[in-house]
Amino acid sequence: MTSFEDLPIRDDLRGLKPYGAPQAHVRVELNVNENTHPVPPQVVMDIMGRIHTALGNINRYPDREFTNLRVALAEYLGHGLSAENIWAANGSNEVIQQLLQAFGGPGRSVLAFPPTYSMHSIIASGTGTTWIPAQRDADFEISPATAVTAIKENKPDIVFFCTPNNPTGTPVSLETIAAAYDATDGIVFVDEAYAEFAPEGEPTALTLLAGRPRLVVSRTMSKAFAFAGARLGYLAGDPAVADALRLVRLPYHLSALTQAAAEGALAHTPAMLAMVEDIRQQRDRLVTELAVLGYTPYPSSANFVLFGGVRDPQEVFEKLLAQGIIIRDIDMPNHLRVTAGTEAETTEFLNALAALDGSINGAL
Ligand SMILES: *Cc1c(COP(=O)(O)O)cnc(C)c1O
Repeated sequence: MTSFEDLPIRDDLRGLKPYGAPQAHVRVELNVNENTHPVPPQVVMDIMGRIHTALGNINRYPDREFTNLRVALAEYLGHGLSAENIWAANGSNEVIQQLLQAFGGPGRSVLAFPPTYSMHSIIASGTGTTWIPAQRDADFEISPATAVTAIKENKPDIVFFCTPNNPTGTPVSLETIAAAYDATDGIVFVDEAYAEFAPEGEPTALTLLAGRPRLVVSRTMSKAFAFAGARLGYLAGDPAVADALRLVRLPYHLSALTQAAAEGALAHTPAMLAMVEDIRQQRDRLVTELAVLGYTPYPSSANFVLFGGVRDPQEVFEKLLAQGIIIRDIDMPNHLRVTAGTEAETTEFLNALAALDGSINGAL
């Protein structure tokens, strides 16, 4: 059988592995930080109407500038942003890819702070951008001094932050982001995929955008908005950033159906985000109850919890999967990550975990 390594593939892609979160369809899916609540039926109805209208004109290319969608996204974000500050693509992963195509690439580098979102380094590989991992402080934090030291040592073209960070749930302070900005002439990119789950009133990096044209903040409709299947991610930044991305995006990259669906979802923002408070409660419950079971959960500002103290993560993962519950083995020794689901899903997970054999269970 031919392997991709037998093909005349780029040398820098040899030996790499693709993104590989298992996609098992089981009863309780708590592995990829989706919102496990379905979109409310009245929103589905409205989106169907909009898609019907879009289909009436589907013989034509869509609005290449997705203007109505950018207006709606700017309105949702607030913070004095307008449509010119917004760019969107098929998931924030594509936004990040476009960002690295424009500002990274061969001969350029991106500095990041693992453990962090696995796609960040995969997109760096795909775009030929050198990945520079830097150390975090204790408890996965990044102080301003830690960020500045890593930037001065490595002189990256791009700095990546993820707040709250996947897979740890740790927020990055605005002081750290502002200090990093001042320490580099490059792009500072902040992935805020989980921002809506942060505690009420926690400041977002959107508040730092004014006067910082090299700062870029991304969001997604995949998590809080319960819209992962629609594929819509976006960023806020200086209008010049969007101009740069227009050089690398494919024309008409957002289909008319995607634009219609996302506009429909945004027209019902309160209904779409109605479950966020519930999910926050289940997340906090996971932190409390995992500790009671003898594990060491980390505090989380996102919709998932990382917990340590697992003797054999792979075995726990498989025992839960055998019962129709999938969580995430993130290849961190003695750690697992679980998404906060509905109350019933969270209860099932906790009960199944509590019932596991002590030889793989419990605190180390
Ligand atoms: C889930 C996730 C995303 C979402 O990616 P999409 O392409 O928008 O679905 C982005 N960043 C982080 C850190 C994530 O965990």
